[in-house]
Parts: sequence; structure tokens; C-alpha cells
Amino acid sequence: METKLGDDKSMKVFEHDIEEVLLTHEQIQSKAAELGAQISADYAGSDLLLVGVLKGAFVFMADLSRHVTLPMEFDFMAVSSYGAATQTSGVVRILKDLDHEIQGRNVLLVEDIVDSGLTLSYLLKNLRTRKPASLEVCALLQKTGVQQVPIEIRYKAFEIPPVFVVGYGLDYGERFRNLPFVGTLRPDVYRDAVS
Ligand code: 5GP
Repeated sequence: METKLGDDKSMKVFEHDIEEVLLTHEQIQSKAAELGAQISADYAGSDLLLVGVLKGAFVFMADLSRHVTLPMEFDFMAVSSYGAATQTSGVVRILKDLDHEIQGRNVLLVEDIVDSGLTLSYLLKNLRTRKPASLEVCALLQKTGVQQVPIEIRYKAFEIPPVFVVGYGLDYGERFRNLPFVGTLRPDVYRDAVS
């Protein structure tokens, strides 16, 4: 199948793993710039704290933040879902908590992908108890038609179909986070992992 990796020779190394590129590096960069400008306007004059959800959000957060033209601070949380590896149970284990208090701060939570929404819903509930002045979400991806809980995503880069994707921070077995695009894996990559 056509992988649409283009003529970029550095991409050839991914040819055997990637089935299709859903979002190119250029598309993502242009959207990050657009959202960065929007965030800069919305938070002008206020004290902004970007909170990244590790590990998946680190690439998007790095690019997005360089388009935000405001003084701001960064913090990170690391979470993992309990239960089966491929489907979130909604019960989230906090592996790394924030380094700082967020009471009275304007918090913008940066997520890689919203699938069922259960992880994000848990995180928002948890962070709200800490009484931030404001709490909003910026997500790189949202899968359509699979969200189980209502969540308002104030800054959303892209909607994608409900397929498993890797790249631009997103992994499969800790691999593929460094792909500069978002794409789907060839089925034999999963098969090789099982056998
Ligand atoms: P949710 O709780 O919204 O169902 O799942 C959120 C988390 O599941 C994401 O932060 C991400 O870690 C993982 N996840 C959901 N869909 C995908 C996907 O298509 N690819 C990858 N690599 N991770 C995903």
C-alpha cells in the first residue's frame, strides 16, 4: 500500500512499519502555529502554566509552546491506565505528579490523543480539586465517535478516525514516538509483536 512517505529519504527507514501517513509534519506544524497564536491571544496578560501529559504529549508540547509568545511555565504529569494494555479502563495511575501547586494558576493541559476520554476526564477531575484559576485542554488528536464521556477540548489540533496511530510522540511498545508525522502501522508490525 502507498505509504505517502514522500521523497524525503530520511523517511524510508519507516517504510516497513508505516501503512499510511494521516497527518504530515507540515500539517502538524501549521496547526501548532495556529493554536499557539490563539493561546497567546487568549492568555495575554495572565499567568500561564502548561502541563504536559507524559509521555505522549512531549513532542506536541515542545512545538506548540514555541508558538506561544507569552512568558509561561511548564510542568508535567506521567500517567498510566490500569487494566488491559490496548484499551483504557478509565482508572488512571499517577506515575509522576506535578512539581508545583496549581492553586490560582491558569492551567492548560496538553494531551496527545483523546480516545474514550476516560484518562482526560480523570485527570481533569483530579486537577480541579487543586483549585486552579482556570483549567483548559489542548489536544493534538481526538478520535471521532468513540468518546465515552463529554469533555470540552478548547484547543484541538485534529480529529482522526478511530484507528490506532503512532508518531509525533505517540508510541507502540515505546517505539515510533520520534516519527515526525502521525500514521498507522502495517498489520504485520502488530503480528510480529505477538508472535
Ligand atoms: P483514553 O482514556 O482517551 O481512551 O485514552 C487516552 C490514552 O490512550 C492516550 O493518552 C494514549 O496514551 C493512549 N491512546 C489512545 N489511542 C491511542 C492511539 O491511537 N495510539 C497510541 N499510541 N496511543 C493511544
